[in-house]
Amino acid sequence: MKNLAILGSTGSIGQSALAVVDAHPGRLRVAALAAGDNAALLAEQVARYCPAVVGMATAEGADRLRQACGANAPTIVGGAEGLVAVATHPPVDIVICASAGTAGLEAVLAAIDAGKTVALANKEVLVMAGALVTEAARRKGVAILPVDSEHNAIHQCLHGRDRREIRRLILTASGGPFRELPADALEKVDADAALRHPTWRMGRKITIDSATLMNKGLEVIEAHWLFGVSADQIDVVIHPQSIVHSMVELTDGSVIAQLGVTDMRLPIQYACSYPERWEAALPPLDLTRAGRLEFHAPARDRFPCLDLAYRALRTGGTLPVVLNAANEIAVDAFLDGKLGFTAIPRVIEKAIGAHDVENVTTLEIVRRVDAWARDCARDAAQALELSA
Ligand code: MG
Repeated sequence: MKNLAILGSTGSIGQSALAVVDAHPGRLRVAALAAGDNAALLAEQVARYCPAVVGMATAEGADRLRQACGANAPTIVGGAEGLVAVATHPPVDIVICASAGTAGLEAVLAAIDAGKTVALANKEVLVMAGALVTEAARRKGVAILPVDSEHNAIHQCLHGRDRREIRRLILTASGGPFRELPADALEKVDADAALRHPTWRMGRKITIDSATLMNKGLEVIEAHWLFGVSADQIDVVIHPQSIVHSMVELTDGSVIAQLGVTDMRLPIQYACSYPERWEAALPPLDLTRAGRLEFHAPARDRFPCLDLAYRALRTGGTLPVVLNAANEIAVDAFLDGKLGFTAIPRVIEKAIGAHDVENVTTLEIVRRVDAWARDCARDAAQALELSA
């Protein structure tokens, strides 16, 4: 029996993780849960899975959860301490980190320090602090298993393989809802259109990131940290059907791919079962019904976020922190209807252009640069908003 902690249990990945638990009651048990703001859903999850420790993002949220749980409330902790309490709860074996955005970095570091296996769905953690997180995991001998479908696919392709055999990682991208829109039409798209993702159902922030290709850019940085390969060894190919989840090209030119249905329960279950494989109650992949599988180069001119991410990775240090923070601010402004779609990369470019790069040696540096980048991006977004 493996005991799970789920950070972000009320979100899309968190709910899929609980569905994996439902499918394997003899193998997986929920020991701790944390959520951002949805006290009503978390209270339902508490009643169903009986975790010993539960976290909410704020003290006020923790109060709402206590009220919703009534007499049978478990230990409830609010604020950043709540995430850490859930991530380090002693019986927990695997911490599934699916909290949105940059929340959860401290909790992941605390989980590693406590010797937990980390199943990572939150790519921002590695984008911001990949050096700190991977170094801590190496020191503690802790595994970081990717839940992000592309990296999970690459993990499967690399299983049992010598790292020196890798020539190149090939991340597939759906291309998002606008992959065929001309540049002038891209300027006019709104949040509703951007939130209609063609193949994956996900949270709002990551769905916008998919539409701008920033999601793929963040995944390039994530792949660098997870698999120890350079930016030059990571390529992106647009594959609108999202059936090939990613590929690895080996030194002799052979390409290994992982294919599957587009359902996050598959990579989540792999991370929970690894190094074993378990049965899954998912529909089988029927390639005879999948239709044509297409692959083409990303339109880097129409979707400049991808190259901004490559630039941040090649420069390294704190530049990916700035990229990530500025992107969060720009995406928020876009979702609020204050910023145009094509202004998102302009905000990010302003922030990374204004930054003096430092090495990431402490969490304090990450926090300080993250805060600076958010201010810088807010100013840039406001300037673009006014000129619009
Ligand atoms: Mg992904």
